[in-house]
Amino acid sequence: MAQCLHCQKKGLFLSIDKNGLCKSCLPIVMFTIKQILRVLEESINFAENGKTYKTRLSRCNDVLEKAQELRNFEDLGIPTIEPKPSELILEYTNYRDKLILEKAGGASSKATQK
Ligand SMILES: [Zn+2]
Repeated sequence: MAQCLHCQKKGLFLSIDKNGLCKSCLPIVMFTIKQILRVLEESINFAENGKTYKTRLSRCNDVLEKAQELRNFEDLGIPTIEPKPSELILEYTNYRDKLILEKAGGASSKATQK
């Protein structure tokens, strides 16, 4: 029996698309994912190419926040992005740590130069 991954509705005559979603969920879920992706892409761009440390760090947090929203869909088994949101979260958690470490390292070396 078909079951929608999003609303958990099931039925013999329920039609489910290739993403595992019923007709009422499909447009809502696709719209939500699209909105998240738009912000996510922009945030990734600024997180990696932002002019200042502050921009990169705050955009890094945005990336993590948005990836977390996508992860809710991943947990339901609904496909979103490749690499998977959970992998993106891992990658950006490391990247954020690296940013913070670099900043800390840079600040201390400046202090010792004085
Ligand atoms: Zn549904």
